[in-house]
Amino acid sequence: MNNLNFFLPERIRKAAAEKYALGVEGVLISKPVNVVYLSDFKSSNCYILLTGKENFLITDFRYIEAAENNGAGLTPVKIDRSFTVFDFINSTGIRSLAVEEEEITYSFFKELSSKFRGTIKSAGGLTEKLRIIKDDYEMDCLKRAEALGDEAFDFLTDFVKEGMREKDIAFELEYFMRSRGAEGLSFDSIVVSGKRSSMPHGMPSEKKIEKGDFITFDFGCRVDGYCSDMTRNLLVGEPSKEQEKVYNIVKEAQSAALEAVSSGKNAADIDMTARDIIKYYGYGEYFGHGLGHGVGLEIHEAPTLSPGGNEILKPGMAVTVEPGIYLPGKFGVRIEDLVLVKETGCEVLSSSNKELIII
Ligand code: ZN
Ligand code: ZN
Repeated sequence: MNNLNFFLPERIRKAAAEKYALGVEGVLISKPVNVVYLSDFKSSNCYILLTGKENFLITDFRYIEAAENNGAGLTPVKIDRSFTVFDFINSTGIRSLAVEEEEITYSFFKELSSKFRGTIKSAGGLTEKLRIIKDDYEMDCLKRAEALGDEAFDFLTDFVKEGMREKDIAFELEYFMRSRGAEGLSFDSIVVSGKRSSMPHGMPSEKKIEKGDFITFDFGCRVDGYCSDMTRNLLVGEPSKEQEKVYNIVKEAQSAALEAVSSGKNAADIDMTARDIIKYYGYGEYFGHGLGHGVGLEIHEAPTLSPGGNEILKPGMAVTVEPGIYLPGKFGVRIEDLVLVKETGCEVLSSSNKELIII
């Protein structure tokens, strides 16, 4: 749909404007995912220097041609051993600089401190603050990634049979997503069955699928850089009374939390909506993680929906809603959707069935 180059100058303008709030003349962006967000430039050695008047894409010989063809409106700058990023920063004449303190290394900081002829301060997650609200291009990417996740779950529902190994199912799942256009995975796929499903982030093993197993699939793929994330469960054979009961509690908690997501709501309150239902049925101690997290270029980003989350939801935020109940030695259930926060309510991007599916 959208042309990314249409959105990049606006992102750069907003990031550069933040330097006034920081009280600095320049901002150095070095975290690769933030460089990609601002410029769609992917390399293993790149910086963006925002000075407002002119903004620069700084890289070495290997990437300079790509930098010259980049469509974000940044001025390309070539660095090498005799003209380093520090030399370039000094050559611009800026006297104060904000850096991404969570990203730069101690050795980079030492060198910058000794060579830069000005004051240095923290940029304080400047780009992350912009990334928390998705623009139309990003929303479109997230929708396409999540739609591919739905297709993959359809595939799993048909494909998975008793006797298959968790590892082999994970491989087929990944092959399915890659062969239909995913660039890669959002994270290592979780395929856990039977007693192993009580591990919220268990890794696929040699274990074979058996009758009576709950299987949890938590997986995601990347489309145009953006992550999908969803969790569904399949049950092999007849469910026990407890399996059916626990599944229905998680489903009720998940749908109540989805109802609660809306602009202006507090992240902790959304978490509480799901948690209170699970507690009411007596399983509170078996829901030991937060309700959800932001998703975008990274699989885990702001905001966090958890008991301690203090973010107020705003339109354009993309968050997961994923309550679960994990009974050690027995089984676990989690249901996860990715949603876009709207002025009123939210748009659920995953459309896969949430009824108890028996295979
Ligand atoms: Zn997930
Ligand atoms: Zn998740």
